Amino acid sequence: MFVTDIRQLKYQEALHDHCGVFGIYAPGEDVAKITYFALHSLQHRGQESAGIAVSDGRKLRSIRNLGLVTSVFHEDNLNKLKGFVAIGHNRYSTAGGNVHQNVQPFILSTKYKVFALAHNGNIVNANELAKKLTNIHRTTTSDTEVLTYTIYKAKREKWKDKIINAASTLKGAYSIVACSKKRLYAFRDPWGFRPLVIGRLGSYYVVSSETCALETIGASYVRDVTPGEIIEVDRNGLTTLGQIAKPNLKFCLFEYVYLARPDSVLNGELVHNVRRNSGKILAQESPVKADLVAAVPDSGTSAALGYASTSGIPFGEVLIKNRYIGRTFIQPEQHIRELGVKIKFNPMEKIVNGKNIVIVDDSIVRGTTMKKIVEILKKSGAKKIHIRVCSPPIRWPCFFGVDTPERKQLIASEKSVEEIRKFIVADSLKYLSLSGLIKASRQSDSSLCSACFTGKYPINVNYNFKKNIFEKEAT
Ligand code: AMP
Repeated sequence: MFVTDIRQLKYQEALHDHCGVFGIYAPGEDVAKITYFALHSLQHRGQESAGIAVSDGRKLRSIRNLGLVTSVFHEDNLNKLKGFVAIGHNRYSTAGGNVHQNVQPFILSTKYKVFALAHNGNIVNANELAKKLTNIHRTTTSDTEVLTYTIYKAKREKWKDKIINAASTLKGAYSIVACSKKRLYAFRDPWGFRPLVIGRLGSYYVVSSETCALETIGASYVRDVTPGEIIEVDRNGLTTLGQIAKPNLKFCLFEYVYLARPDSVLNGELVHNVRRNSGKILAQESPVKADLVAAVPDSGTSAALGYASTSGIPFGEVLIKNRYIGRTFIQPEQHIRELGVKIKFNPMEKIVNGKNIVIVDDSIVRGTTMKKIVEILKKSGAKKIHIRVCSPPIRWPCFFGVDTPERKQLIASEKSVEEIRKFIVADSLKYLSLSGLIKASRQSDSSLCSACFTGKYPINVNYNFKKNIFEKEAT
C-alpha cells in the first residue's frame, strides 16, 4: 500500500509503532549477534517484524523481515552481518501497517549518504511533513520514512545540525537509534515519551529501549538519553552533540503499567516494584473478601503479588498461559481475538471450583480478555470473581507510540465501570485510581503522560474523534 495522505486513513489504519530499538558501536565485537540477543530481550515491545543493520565502515548491510527475532535471524544470516556498528529494531504495528516494506531499520541510501534508522514512537504530524517532501518516492507507509527523509532533507551538512533542524518540525514521540557507515547516533524527543538508555559494554557503548536488554548482553547501565538529547558514538567515545529543545519530560505512564518488562528500570524505578506497589495500593483502595488472589499471567503477576501481600489473601495460580500462542490484542477480527483468549489461558478447575477469587490484570482495553476470563473461570466452578485492574480506565487513544484502538473500541470510553462489570459478567470490578498509579510509579505527576486515562495530551494533536481523522497540523 502506498499512502500519500495519512489524514485520509482512519485512526486504526494509521501508523503507530510500539517498538524496541537497540544500537551498538564496538569494533572487534560481533555486533550483529549482540544486537540479536538484545532484540530477544526487547521482543515484548514488538513481535511483528525484526531487523538488524550493520556497517563495517564501507558497506551497510541489513536483514529485515516479518516475524519474531528467532524466525528472522539464524546463525548463517547473522554471520553475513560483519562490522563494528549496528542497530536493531522489533516492530509492533496495527494490522494494516504490518507489511514487509515497513520493517525497520529504515535504510536510506543515496549517492551521498547511507544510513539506517530505527524508531520507537509515533510522529503525529507525519502527514504534514510528508507533503513537504518533494522529489521523494516513498516506498513505505510508515511515519519513520517521513521522519528519516525530513532529517535527511534538512538544509545542513552535519548530522547533528540536520537532526536539530528537522526536530523543530517533528511533533510526537521518537526514541531513535541510527547509524551511518562509521557512527552510531541516538536521540529522543524533548518530552521523552518512550524510554531510551545508554549502557556500557567493556569499553564500548550501547543504546537500548530498556535496561533488561543491557543485562542480557552483559552491559552495565550508564544513564538515560535525556529528553531532547542527541548523542553520537564513534572511536572517540560518546559525545552529546546537542539538544533538540528544552527537556519537558512527559514519560508514558503506560510503560509502567504494561509495555515495559518487569525487570527493566524506568526513571530509576524497577517496573516490577511499580506494578507491585500498584497492586498494594489497589488492595487498600478496593478491598474484597476472597479465598485467593490470582493474576492474568504474565501482565498482572507483579500487581497480583502486591494485592495479595496487602490484603493478606493468599496468592495462587488459576490460569495457565500457553506461551506459544502470541498476542490476542492485535487480531483485527473480534471473533478471532475471542478465540485467541480461550487458547491462551486454561483454568485449573480443581483449584478454581467453589472459590471466591480476585483476578488482577494490568489493564482493560476492549474488554475481550476479561470477559472471556470471567466466563472460563465461572465455567470451571468459581463461586465469585472479583476483577481488580491496576490502572485507571483507558478512555482515550494514544498518539505517542502505543497501539491503542480508536476511541469507540475502548470499552471505558463508552461504558461506566458498572456497565463494564455487567459486560464482563464479574461479581465486582474496581480500577486503580490515577493518583494511586502515579504514587506507585514514584514519579511526579508533571513528568508523566497519562493521556490514555485523562484525554489531556501533552501535545495538541488536533484529532477529530468523531470523524476519526487528524484535522490539521498538530501544534
Ligand atoms: P482487551 O482484551 O482488549 O481488553 O485487552 C486487555 C489485555 O491486553 C490486557 O490483558 C493487557 O495486558 C493487554 N494490553 C494492554 N495494552 C496493550 C497493548 N498496547 N498491546 C497489547 N496488549 C495490551
